[in-house]
Amino acid sequence: MRILICGGGISGLSTALALRGDGHEIELIEKADGWRAEGAGLHLPGNAVASMERLGIAGQVAAISFAFPRIRYLDHRAARLFDLDLRDGSWPVFQATERAGFHEILRRALPDLKVIFGREISEISTSDKSAKNPAAVTFNDGDRSEYDLVVGADGINSSLRALLWGKELAPVSAGFSCWRWLTPLPPGQAEPHFMIGSGSVLLVMPVSADCAYVFASIADPDGTMVKQGADILQSAFSMYGGAVPKLLARLEQDAPILPGVLAQMLVDQWHQGPAVLVGDAAHGTLPTMAQGATMAMEDALVLAESLRAEPDLHLALSLYQERRKPRAQWVQHQSLKRMGLARLKSQPLVFLRNQLMRRMGPKVLASGWRPLIEKAF
Ligand SMILES: Cc1cc2nc3c(=O)[nH]c(=O)nc-3n(C[C@H](O)[C@H](O)[C@H](O)COP(=O)(O)OP(=O)(O)OC[C@H]3O[C@@H](n4cnc5c(N)ncnc54)[C@H](O)[C@@H]3O)c2cc1C
Repeated sequence: MRILICGGGISGLSTALALRGDGHEIELIEKADGWRAEGAGLHLPGNAVASMERLGIAGQVAAISFAFPRIRYLDHRAARLFDLDLRDGSWPVFQATERAGFHEILRRALPDLKVIFGREISEISTSDKSAKNPAAVTFNDGDRSEYDLVVGADGINSSLRALLWGKELAPVSAGFSCWRWLTPLPPGQAEPHFMIGSGSVLLVMPVSADCAYVFASIADPDGTMVKQGADILQSAFSMYGGAVPKLLARLEQDAPILPGVLAQMLVDQWHQGPAVLVGDAAHGTLPTMAQGATMAMEDALVLAESLRAEPDLHLALSLYQERRKPRAQWVQHQSLKRMGLARLKSQPLVFLRNQLMRRMGPKVLASGWRPLIEKAF
């Protein structure tokens, strides 16, 4: 088949990797002028290992990542709420890495991939619902071509999705702004820890022996804080203890600090004619379970398997959606539930939440990850 992959992020590259060797003619277009891996760090929970192994990158990722057996959960003063033991018998290793390094591993695994930068789809015609006829595509530079399959891997704000289903199908804000950056590992902080306050959370995640990824998020229903720049972090996290005062003191040195707003993307139908969505374009999720990259890799593998198993393209894409959608929805639901804990602001409710987390935290958090780790995708 002649396949066009739209987007060179984790899902686009994983799709190219999963389809490699199946005899397809694959072309990848990327809107940016060159490779860039937006984001700072990447937490890869235990279920990432299975898809990384199947894509053939697990060893290389392990070589550049930081593996950890537990995550500490603390209140905003850095008092312990509970420790989440991740070894849990047979769970594969949880790890974290710099996003740029992870992206580079995917790229290096595809030395022969045809990539065109600065290119986007401006029109697509998929009038044939049976997917028996190719999609006619017009690009932003006026070029036209036909493809047997077009894969939308262009992220949560997918333009391909908007072309196919309309712009009204858009991400739903979770009412949180966030900032991400890399910093030298704070002394004595060699373990990942997640701090939860009143309407805010902060994660410090080592990604190597001397570097940590920081994710800070504040409840911001109107999205006004994110427009004020990273300086807002100084006041929003001034009540935090532990390593946070030191992190705030070196914000300028650690720039760039990547701002964002947290949103979910709920899409009912993931394919139309010979076009299909993968990764965040199909099911962008909140980052609280750190599942985005893993879901993207799993999508890629299942799409490739479905194309191998079913010669009729429409049936293959239906099979892909059928296998992937329940798992992606589980992740979205669980991630939203976790975010709800950070929304609380009133002191009595925060007190009660912290009491509950001390007692129930490990069980509740492990139960979100367990089916993803223990059930094959
Ligand atoms: C704050 C935050 C923290 C996160 N932390 C984690 C984590 O720790 N672990 C984890 O697994 N996940 C995490 N995620 C989720 C993860 O980043 C995403 O799920 C993942 O990057 C999705 O990959 P993707 O390839 O689908 O989309 P993207 O990463 O958005 O990539 C899309 C690509 O398509 C390109 N593109 C966009 N539009 C077009 C177009 N019209 N034409 C061509 N190309 C286009 C973009 O330039 C980009 O290269 C986090 C997300 C956020 C917001």
